[in-house]
Amino acid sequence: MYVPDIELYEARTIDELFDLSSRYASAKILAGGTDLLVDLKAGRVSASSLISIKKIDSLKHISLDESGLCIGSLATITQLNGSSLVREQFPSLIDATSRMAAPQVRNAATVGGNIVSAVPCADLPPILMALNASVVVKSSKNERKIPLSSFFIHVRKTTLLPGEVVTSIIVPTPRTGSGAAYERFSLRDGNSIAVAGVAANLRFSKRGEIESTRLVLGAVSPTPKLVEDAENTMVGHMLDDEIGTKVASIAMADCNPIDDVRGSAAFRREIVGVLTKRALQSAWARAQRVKS
Ligand SMILES: Cc1cc2nc3c(=O)[nH]c(=O)nc-3n(C[C@H](O)[C@H](O)[C@H](O)COP(=O)(O)OP(=O)(O)OC[C@H]3O[C@@H](n4cnc5c(N)ncnc54)[C@H](O)[C@@H]3O)c2cc1C
Repeated sequence: MYVPDIELYEARTIDELFDLSSRYASAKILAGGTDLLVDLKAGRVSASSLISIKKIDSLKHISLDESGLCIGSLATITQLNGSSLVREQFPSLIDATSRMAAPQVRNAATVGGNIVSAVPCADLPPILMALNASVVVKSSKNERKIPLSSFFIHVRKTTLLPGEVVTSIIVPTPRTGSGAAYERFSLRDGNSIAVAGVAANLRFSKRGEIESTRLVLGAVSPTPKLVEDAENTMVGHMLDDEIGTKVASIAMADCNPIDDVRGSAAFRREIVGVLTKRALQSAWARAQRVKS
């Protein structure tokens, strides 16, 4: 399999990108290429031209300000995984980055590409959604902020419009008493995509009960799945075995997995139950640590 003949253009600034996009309207954006080049080779995607954004340095930052963690869309998975800021304040993102792909892929793969690809088994979307993250999207005419919970429409389909580029991802700073975690199951370590993934984000009230929670499932429905009933079941309770088992059953009933070479739908559903309990326990333990 070869990449078909393609014209390649390179933008070094966002303005250059918009200029190139206006001249080559059907061109696709190329970031790390770890999804797009594979899709072009496999014939899942066709394009006569690509615009590489890899050299736009202004999209590579990872920083913290009053709105939270700001991740430039071109930050690589390696960069995110190695960030001391992320490790200390957003350890649940490290749960995902430390399990993704292998070092060679992580060095090229970007956070923006992982989101825009909108592949159901992608690891960052579920945990970013659990953390209430938004994407900042720019076109030559305007800028908008889209909550990740309304960004994904279907498999490989998002609300991104032609001519728009994702510039950054904003993750709100967790409030005191919060803890989050991501758990995934894959068939082996390294270069193996998720068979199922579960992200949990909990917050305690001053009385020590769960005040809010967000549970998001990955790889078991066309888009990351927010388990809405989890919140109703957990609020006002402590996390014990009974509540964990109840929420695990709700998550298992709420997902819509497929059968494929990595596992049957029934197997995936069972795994969702196990991962839900683990993610909740780990998020709970992290929240307790922050509280004390
Ligand atoms: C061997 C292998 C193992 C992998 N394992 C995992 C894994 O364990 N977990 C996982 O989640 N993923 C995995 N992946 C998938 C892949 O590495 C990620 O999805 C990666 O983060 C995609 O980013 P990229 O920069 O390579 O995107 P690209 O391939 O460059 O682009 C992907 C898509 O996003 C669009 N795009 C990219 N950036 C932007 C932007 N800023 N604005 C608008 N559109 C944009 C492109 O046009 C394209 O449609 C694996 C891939 C390989 C090849």
